[in-house]
Amino acid sequence: MSTRGISILGATGSIGRSTLRVLDQLDGSFRPVALTAHRSVDVLAELVDRYRPRLAVVADADAAMPADPSGGADWMQGREALIEAATHPDAEIVLNALVGAAGLASTIAALRAGKRVALANKESLVCAGPLVRRAEEEGGGELIPVDSEHSAIFQCLQGCAARGEVRKLVLTASGGPFREWSEARLSDVRRADALRHPTWEMGAKITIDSATLANKALEVIEAHHLFGMSYDNIETVVHPQSIIHSMVEFVDGSVLAQMGFPSMEIPILYALTYPDRMRYESRRFDPVAAGDLSFEPVRHAAFPIFGLGVEAGRAGGTAPAVFNAANEVAVAAFLEDRLDFPGIPAAVADALDRWEQTELGSLDDVWHADAWARRVTDHFVRSQALC
Ligand code: NDP
Repeated sequence: MSTRGISILGATGSIGRSTLRVLDQLDGSFRPVALTAHRSVDVLAELVDRYRPRLAVVADADAAMPADPSGGADWMQGREALIEAATHPDAEIVLNALVGAAGLASTIAALRAGKRVALANKESLVCAGPLVRRAEEEGGGELIPVDSEHSAIFQCLQGCAARGEVRKLVLTASGGPFREWSEARLSDVRRADALRHPTWEMGAKITIDSATLANKALEVIEAHHLFGMSYDNIETVVHPQSIIHSMVEFVDGSVLAQMGFPSMEIPILYALTYPDRMRYESRRFDPVAAGDLSFEPVRHAAFPIFGLGVEAGRAGGTAPAVFNAANEVAVAAFLEDRLDFPGIPAAVADALDRWEQTELGSLDDVWHADAWARRVTDHFVRSQALC
């Protein structure tokens, strides 16, 4: 295989660093051509020294740039520079591991430029699924999921000739650290408890989303857009061991599941090498060590944000963008101790209640809904602090 260029957006984060670990093992089959960070300039400088990309981007326009930019890369700063990384002529693949709606413009730009987008940034599809798919079609790009559940479904669907053969997608959810907590006890959740995920090590935002189950709602919407399945045919089941990453039920009653010990390196690898598989050393699966596998229904009353998100997905238009932005603001407030745990779904419910639905025709519609939801949720958070 010849060397393929890859831009890693969010290289300093959890998925970005896992991607670089994957590349370390692949003997030069892939070469990083652009690496980006938001504010972690020092970490980015170390990565540039080590991986020698052509372009290094610091997305935050206010972050202090290195005094002596090193590593032989061109250094750029600001949100627009992310687009340069997403459309770099030497990049065949763009791995989007940005967090939040901030990743959307890069996904669209990369697809329009005909790139393969290995998508971890699920928020792109949540906020603007139809626009992302249109960009893919018009630009000739290709969207491959990195999220472990969606990679599992994508892998189970290989060899499935027609979507009409699929009856149902079953997304698994670990249930997060509070799976067994009573509703009353959830009022006392502390930040440190919520940041301790039982089966996955991830960035702070997705870890909190996993604790509230907002992450699973985002994933249901992501699956709807990725696989063109109606919401009625996407089921979510809690599977605390995180061994089965998701399942597909076919019309003949067969069910395929993709399994393994939790590791993001496998879905990242598959998104890069698809449709091929490459030899890779990681912890080998051992069914006996995996032990018993169990399944439970989602506890909707304890985790109301899950239902709110799925309903926003069903409503379509700009409602999912409102759900996402309100959740981003509420999670940031929780992480800064400005909002308690039950305040996260309450803030999101407040924004969705107030939003007057609009159609999703362009990115401007998304940004309008996003900005509105951020304002309203910020106001909600401040009002809670005064109580
Ligand atoms: P992290 O918080 O660990 O990393 C986020 C990356 O994006 C960092 O490089 C960060 O830079 C950069 N970044 C943050 N905010 C901005 C911004 N506003 N503009 C530009 N760059 C920004 O996140 P994760 O790696 O955990 O998650 C990334 C995406 O992947 C999310 O959408 C998440 O839902 C998804 N995902 C993550 C999984 C995981 O295991 N972590 C699993 C499945 C999906 P800096 O370091 O400078 O802050």
